[in-house]
Amino acid sequence: MAGAEIPNVPVRHEIMVTEPFERFLEPMVISFKHGIYFSQSEHGNIVGGIGNPDEEPGINQKGSLWFLKTFSDTLLDFIPRFSGVNMIRQWAGLYDTTPDAQPILGPAPEVERLYHVNGFSGHGFMVSPMVDKVTAELVMGEEPSMDIERLKVERFEDMDIEEEGAVVG
Ligand SMILES: Cc1cc2nc3c(=O)[nH]c(=O)nc-3n(C[C@H](O)[C@H](O)[C@H](O)COP(=O)(O)OP(=O)(O)OC[C@H]3O[C@@H](n4cnc5c(N)ncnc54)[C@H](O)[C@@H]3O)c2cc1C
Repeated sequence: MAGAEIPNVPVRHEIMVTEPFERFLEPMVISFKHGIYFSQSEHGNIVGGIGNPDEEPGINQKGSLWFLKTFSDTLLDFIPRFSGVNMIRQWAGLYDTTPDAQPILGPAPEVERLYHVNGFSGHGFMVSPMVDKVTAELVMGEEPSMDIERLKVERFEDMDIEEEGAVVG
């Protein structure tokens, strides 16, 4: 809409929540091998997701049976005592995904005073404090407190990009 080109594509990722039970799980558990992640909320619900390596890009936010079965089976491999726990809701969202699964930050070369802050590829919450700080500095014409050279959109002109390996879900 603004006249700037980005190579991002939307990719569905599914997630679910169980009924609550007594809290016992402090850390968030992630397995890069299985693509699963889960944690227990303050209220005791388990919240988690698992990535589908065959998911095609597109605007699809429907829940799937594949997710229900794969997530349940994998979760029980990790924690068998969850076998009696009921899943109460599942839903899907879109990862705004770049070719290297890294965000795009910095000025858009084609449009004056437009700044890219997109393409978080499924890990936008955790990096948002630093992203906001750096973006505010750029807009104010200050030196960014983190080097963003390798996150600029121009990196996609050079197709020798390095893909982020730590994306889960
Ligand atoms: C299932 C799932 C699990 C995730 N888990 C994690 C996690 O554990 N940790 C983590 O760090 N990240 C996670 N993420 C990623 C995180 O949600 C995103 O990276 C983050 O929300 C991106 O923030 P954003 O502000 O760039 O975009 P968004 O949060 O998508 O915000 C964009 C906003 O712009 C609005 N908008 C769109 N078009 C227009 C328009 N034309 N005019 C006005 N407004 C418009 C939209 O309505 C929306 O409110 C997950 C994502 C999904 C889908």
